Amino acid sequence: RRQLSSVRTAGLGLEAMAQDLQKSYFAAEAGNRSKSQFMATMGHEIRTPLNAILGTTELLQLSGPDRAVAQGLTTIQKSGEALLEVINEILDYAKLDHGKLTTEMRPLVVAELVGSVVDILEDRAGENGNLMRAIYPEAPAFPAIESDPTRLRQVLLNLLSNALKFTQNGVVTLKVSEQVVEGRSYVRFDVTDTGIGIDPEGIGKLFKPFSQVDATISRKYGGTGLGLTICKEIIEQLGGRIGVTSAKGVGSTFWFEVPAKPAEMPISVARSGGR
Ligand code: ADP
Repeated sequence: RRQLSSVRTAGLGLEAMAQDLQKSYFAAEAGNRSKSQFMATMGHEIRTPLNAILGTTELLQLSGPDRAVAQGLTTIQKSGEALLEVINEILDYAKLDHGKLTTEMRPLVVAELVGSVVDILEDRAGENGNLMRAIYPEAPAFPAIESDPTRLRQVLLNLLSNALKFTQNGVVTLKVSEQVVEGRSYVRFDVTDTGIGIDPEGIGKLFKPFSQVDATISRKYGGTGLGLTICKEIIEQLGGRIGVTSAKGVGSTFWFEVPAKPAEMPISVARSGGR
């Protein structure tokens, strides 16, 4: 009970902070509509999971140790995770804005990377009635390559989470293939969904910070509008390219490719480094 109380107190502090931040940005305005829009979005994204955390905590403080407690704890955990995602994106974007977003080259095994990402998202796929599948190249699979496993996982999680979020009762496919461009070898990832798709006007805004295709107050889908901007920076830092093809009402393919520079370390060492 005492711990729940401190979760609640910390939450109230955070909520006040989100409100202050939003107010001061609106006050400054600076004629920058997309920035104020961004703060409104952010206020919403921080406040929604926080209200769930605070409301559930209060409920749990009142209720006895029964099924409601287990359900409440799940809500608290999910809301906490959502909040952490928002805060991590804001921090990554702040780093990017100051030229301090970094990548770190290490050996990575592509199949392991894909496996770990699919494991993380498997449950979420079912929530919208979606089927998620991964398609690998035919044997022999990629040897270990030199890239940034943590950042690539972040990019894949972002693209796949988006695909799952904007698709209902559809299919999300992650396809991994090898591309040779001007004699250089690349690993290419295609994340294809059968979701809402994006019109040509929306495509132009996708990789720009502070923007979402649907930026209205009554936005149907949550999100910060920063994910793709961060993905683009990461992929370019790794020497690759990122892009999208999409058709409204049909679905989208977000793709990226990174150099398949063979890792110098033996694969057995690379395996532990990939996690
Ligand atoms: P967000 O946190 O809002 O998802 P992103 O930068 O990841 O931020 O995406 C920006 C916008 O691009 C989204 O708000 C959405 O409008 C659009 N978008 C991204 N992925 C998809 C997709 N798979 N299908 C349709 N729209 C998408």
